[in-house]
Amino acid sequence: MILILLGPPGCGKGTQAKRLEESRGLVQLSTGDMLRAAVASGSEMGQQAKKVMDAGELMPDEIMIEIISERIDQPDCADGFILDGFPRTTPQAEALDKLLADKSLELGKVIELKVDEEALVERITGRYSCAKCGAGYHDKFQQPKQDGVCDVCGSTEFSRRSDDNEETVRSRLAAYNAQTAEIVPYYGAKGNLVEIDGMLDIEDVTVAIQGVIS
Ligand code: ADP
Ligand code: ADP
Ligand code: ZN
Repeated sequence: MILILLGPPGCGKGTQAKRLEESRGLVQLSTGDMLRAAVASGSEMGQQAKKVMDAGELMPDEIMIEIISERIDQPDCADGFILDGFPRTTPQAEALDKLLADKSLELGKVIELKVDEEALVERITGRYSCAKCGAGYHDKFQQPKQDGVCDVCGSTEFSRRSDDNEETVRSRLAAYNAQTAEIVPYYGAKGNLVEIDGMLDIEDVTVAIQGVIS
């Protein structure tokens, strides 16, 4: 099964993708995580990505298409994957169609998570994750069971993204509205689109997604 999780920054794509990964055995393909790994590696592309991400802008389509094309050829994607953060522009959506057609793969549901803009800002500015295993948390909405200790791996080190500040969030939301929102009707016209209320609690959103993909 190939799924796309679509929606603005902070709508819950990563949170839900990780849950689907566990329950469905699908691999989460987060282009944001891939770019952050490139930043950490210090590669030339990573240096470019750092600037673009901190400005809240988008990386060039050709680079992103190349990254995804190589990634979905890896053996762990053979049983299906969830795209989290890709496609983000019409050219990326068109390139994905072509990539999948060339590989005789069929796109399943495109799940749009709908969340109010002010809620997005609150979610993003309170977001943090485990520095060791990457498990996601939130200051208010998703606290670890034991204060300061990761539920998944027991680590006591956490990190915040440098682009998760209010100013950059506004730029990222503007980029979403200007460049990404138009792919919602693109998938609507193809018949893959499902809208889900992303304002619900994390568990209720998961239940709603499970309902549309089963
Ligand atoms: P995205 O990947 O779309 O940017 P995340 O999944 O990282 O979004 O979620 C952003 C923040 O909001 C995280 O800190 C997460 O814990 C929290 N969050 C995710 N889904 C919900 C929800 N349904 N209700 C409240 N907070 C949520
Ligand atoms: P969020 O979880 O807030 O939706 P991501 O982690 O998906 O953010 O992406 C972080 C940043 O990485 C984006 O603001 C953008 O600069 C860059 N990025 C990620 N995916 C793409 C993509 N498909 N096309 C262009 N830029 C991307
Ligand atoms: Zn952890």
